[in-house]
Amino acid sequence: MRKISEGVYQIEVPMRHNPLGYTYSYLLRDAATLIDTGVGTRDAFDGLEEQARSAGMELTEIKRIIPTHLHGDHIGLVETVRRLSGAKVYAHRTAIERQKESHDKDVDLYAETRNETKLMGGSKYLGFLRRFENSFRGRMSSLEIDEPLENGQTLELEGSTLKVYWTPGHAREHICLHDEEKRILYAGDHVLPKITPHVSLRSHLEGDPLGDYIESLEKIRGLDVETVLPAHQYVFSDLEGRISEMHLHHKNRCEEMKKIISDSRNTVFEISAKVAWDSRPWTEMEFWTKRMAARETLAHLVYLRNRGELKEEVVKGVLYYSLT
Ligand SMILES: [Zn+2]
Repeated sequence: MRKISEGVYQIEVPMRHNPLGYTYSYLLRDAATLIDTGVGTRDAFDGLEEQARSAGMELTEIKRIIPTHLHGDHIGLVETVRRLSGAKVYAHRTAIERQKESHDKDVDLYAETRNETKLMGGSKYLGFLRRFENSFRGRMSSLEIDEPLENGQTLELEGSTLKVYWTPGHAREHICLHDEEKRILYAGDHVLPKITPHVSLRSHLEGDPLGDYIESLEKIRGLDVETVLPAHQYVFSDLEGRISEMHLHHKNRCEEMKKIISDSRNTVFEISAKVAWDSRPWTEMEFWTKRMAARETLAHLVYLRNRGELKEEVVKGVLYYSLT
């Protein structure tokens, strides 16, 4: 636990088996509010409880929980804390729509993953994927949201006034919260100090998350911020500099992909295999990491397609991209 400013505490919630190591949950003590909770494991819960206690707050006293977005490492303990305290859950309204969509469709996740893998040019992995068929079964549980939030809305809490910025990209429902008086930005996974947040796409028809992400970076440019509180890595202050770096990163990545495609048409997997990934080379990635990388590639390809720089065609259920 670390005190950030008067009444604001950073709680390090451990996350085993993940190279990031932990998610930060932020406790606003006067408002009895948690921003993000960490993963839903026993030791994460123990860490959250113990550190909140040393900041002077029992989890049973929490009045509201505001996840920046609905990924597992941010909402894992929401239900547990709600059961203990009766806290209300606030999230961007698209969180409700997104959950309703996946619930109503009752999607066959295995079939969807097979199709997606084939579409991206990964047919040779279909046999491997079959071994995991059972792990795709089971219903996704959804999180009940008590207070849907809107972009630009101001939350007048005890001791903190937070303005909501809807920042889709890493997740469609992602929000950042700005405390203008304390000059703090609760950034979630939107801007992290050293790594670029995963921006990916599951289907070439689904939207343009990279376009959204780049637009969302602009939304928080120019805010009066001295302290950026991200959900991972470390606290930093140069928001403008980091925004510019992220822009450049994606611009370079787009150029790199266009160069890879040059004069022949390529599948998403073929392009991904030639990208100089920051984490590790493609050949050293296991299938699941390759799939993530391919989805990230697809987000860039669709971004370029939408701007007229690439041509997309589907041949026998496989996507191909070429220069226009
Ligand atoms: Zn995260």
